[in-house]
Amino acid sequence: MSVSTVTHVETESLNPYEIVQSQIDQAGKRLGIREEVLNILKKPKRVLYVSFPVKMDNGSIRMFEGFRSQHNDAVGPTKGGIRFHPNVTMDEVKALSMWMSFKCAVAHVPFGGGKGGVICNPHELSKGELQRISRGFMEAIADIVGPEKDIPAPDVYTNAQTMGWMMDTYSRLKGHFSPGVITGKPLSLGGSKGRNEATARGCVYVIEQAMKTLEKPLEGATVAIQGFGNAGRIVADLLSEKRCKIVAVSDTSGAIYQKDGLNLDQVKRLKDGQTSSIVDNPDAQRIENPEELLELDVDILIPAALENVITHKNADRVKAKIVAEAANGPTTPKADEILFNNGILLLPDILANAGGVTVSYFEWVQNLMNYYWSEEEVNSKLQKIMVHSFSEVYSLAKEQQTNLRIAAYMVAIKRITDAMEARGWI
Ligand code: GLU
Repeated sequence: MSVSTVTHVETESLNPYEIVQSQIDQAGKRLGIREEVLNILKKPKRVLYVSFPVKMDNGSIRMFEGFRSQHNDAVGPTKGGIRFHPNVTMDEVKALSMWMSFKCAVAHVPFGGGKGGVICNPHELSKGELQRISRGFMEAIADIVGPEKDIPAPDVYTNAQTMGWMMDTYSRLKGHFSPGVITGKPLSLGGSKGRNEATARGCVYVIEQAMKTLEKPLEGATVAIQGFGNAGRIVADLLSEKRCKIVAVSDTSGAIYQKDGLNLDQVKRLKDGQTSSIVDNPDAQRIENPEELLELDVDILIPAALENVITHKNADRVKAKIVAEAANGPTTPKADEILFNNGILLLPDILANAGGVTVSYFEWVQNLMNYYWSEEEVNSKLQKIMVHSFSEVYSLAKEQQTNLRIAAYMVAIKRITDAMEARGWI
């Protein structure tokens, strides 16, 4: 009986905090790292819970809750985005901060991992309310963030504008302009050229390397993308520039398919239109059950939305040759095993979406120097890092006969534990 048949009847935890702990265990054991040392990595160093009042447009006052988790600062200040989403939980934010530590380590970015989240639904909030929530949250976490301490950035449903408001609030509190406290800012406030596209661009560099390694042409490859936010949308653009065929995309309104390739300009027009929904597309077929997008017979599948979308329940039905995780945590450990056994090459989040934090690092460096780089310079530095990180992880995976996620964790854990040792923590 194959492993995949067995896992069908099993259940698994979908708690991202438990998932990341099991990933640490697996990779740590392969590295022969002592359990007491792995225990340090299995918990964040600090998690702050905050609640704060916000004046709503109708005059009422509403309380909002949020978290900021700082996982491990052995290699440098902590770093990671802030998401606005109704389903944010403390465990999710903790897990996301841990993934950030490993992501930074894989990309040789000298930061530890952090993450923040505010429980709210941006679709139901006005721009003014979003601004007041952003400022309220930054005020609530201001004591524990800072250019040398912990540097936030955009994540799900936050963007350059959110970062601009937060930077302004922090700067006012400190009494001086402090662009280095946050990245992903608007260009007019010290943002970096190329940062907005960086997650997607980095993902495309890794996909290119993977296709080269598998000796498959990128040109003409078929692609399905789940999620049409900052990452998914720009990945679609960049891959279609490389003459891939984007046959399916989805967002919260549903999923669409066009076997000859979607007209991306049309999809973007719909997304930016009144209903901000991609499904009312007369030239594409609607996929009734949006999850079926993950099971399409394509060359490249890109989950670019949220966690736990490829699980033990559907992994066996994934037909793509490559799965590139533009999202954080879209695949569960059991699903990893099934994909690996089925010969599918999974490019894990901590490698595939590391482009965002890499250019965030460049942004922070530029802010500290107060000297700004051209977009070409940013992109070529990014490409070097992504190509190098891919080959480092890929060759370790081959050597260890394991999947790329475990190999990436091994690279990351080694780097972080070396720093902990050098500091005398272990
Ligand atoms: N939120 C992004 C991530 O998950 C970017 C983090 C950053 O730039 O600090 O990687």
